Amino acid sequence: MKPAAKYLLGLDIQELTKLVENYGQKPYRARQLYEAIYKQRIASLDELTVFPKELREKFEQEGYTVTGAKVDQRFVSRDGTIRYLIGFPDGQSVETVWMPDGDDGEAGDGTEAGEEETAPTRFRRATICVSSQVGCAVNCKFCMTALLGLKRNLAAGEIVGQITTVLNDHNVDIAKERVNIVFMGQGEPFNNYDNFIKAVRLLVQGVRIGESRMTVSTSGIVPRIADLSKEEIRPKLALSLNASNDAERTKLIPINKKWDINALVEAAKAFPLRRRENITFEYVLLEGENDSLENAKEVIDIVKSMGKPPDRVKLNLIAWNSGPEIPFHTPSDTRVHAFQNAIRAAGIPAYIRRPRGRDIYAACGQLKKIVSIQPAAV
Ligand code: SF4
Repeated sequence: MKPAAKYLLGLDIQELTKLVENYGQKPYRARQLYEAIYKQRIASLDELTVFPKELREKFEQEGYTVTGAKVDQRFVSRDGTIRYLIGFPDGQSVETVWMPDGDDGEAGDGTEAGEEETAPTRFRRATICVSSQVGCAVNCKFCMTALLGLKRNLAAGEIVGQITTVLNDHNVDIAKERVNIVFMGQGEPFNNYDNFIKAVRLLVQGVRIGESRMTVSTSGIVPRIADLSKEEIRPKLALSLNASNDAERTKLIPINKKWDINALVEAAKAFPLRRRENITFEYVLLEGENDSLENAKEVIDIVKSMGKPPDRVKLNLIAWNSGPEIPFHTPSDTRVHAFQNAIRAAGIPAYIRRPRGRDIYAACGQLKKIVSIQPAAV
């Protein structure tokens, strides 16, 4: 009988060291394995050419393989965005989105600095939006992922595997090309904290993506904000505000009953910022719900209550991306710009996130594994 598959992607250097020692190998073999899996991003043990053939075969006989993640389907948008449906051996799948020119959500966060010197010609600054869970339990009322419910957490290797799969699909040279990672796909990363933070460490130390190029967004799991602040290696923080007062926020994001706006702001105030780092508030604009000038005034008060200088806090505005079964409307450009102007007039940087891949259900809040559109060939 074939042994059950065991995945190398997701193991850190200590775990790999133990593994090779079990095969009577010296620790330098673990370093070779680590470099091959994360830096070279090998997809199968056949590519592990630094290992003797017999050792590779022994690994294979015991069921070891690099990753169980594979591209099930790929949907290509008119704007160049690609939504991947990435499947795992247990039949579950998640979505991962490749945006070849970002979505402007990075504006003002410092990741543009120095772009001139190294900017590649085939994309300016790509962003990968990665999932942390299969589905989600948070139940934000404007989000299609919420309709899936929570199926399960992703292992660290399944989070990293989405990114290495997409990087390999585009043959990205991390040393030369500019890629940002946003933990904003399916799931609430802070409800799968240990796997999420392990994936971050592997991406930074193994895959070599700078932590300043990563942003994690939370719906407001306040205790984990404090945990993140203590991490030596961590992404930047974005908070899904989405409402200007508690009554509205509780309606849109039910966990606001547990951790209200004040609790969120206090946690954000206590979050130590690094050089050139800022905190982002994300705000999905829903027509007639949270997009009036009165709402803008309340948002200004919330942001100002942080007591941070203007270069340390910014607002990303997202005109809601529509989806079936969700009873909201997308505000007009005029309303979105009026909201942005009101925030900016108060001296707060506010950027409008460009919707990417709306036509293929890849945009923010649309990840619900919709497949009833024409997929491109895999
Ligand atoms: S917006 Fe994020 S946290 Fe809220 S339901 Fe959707 S995936 Fe979950």
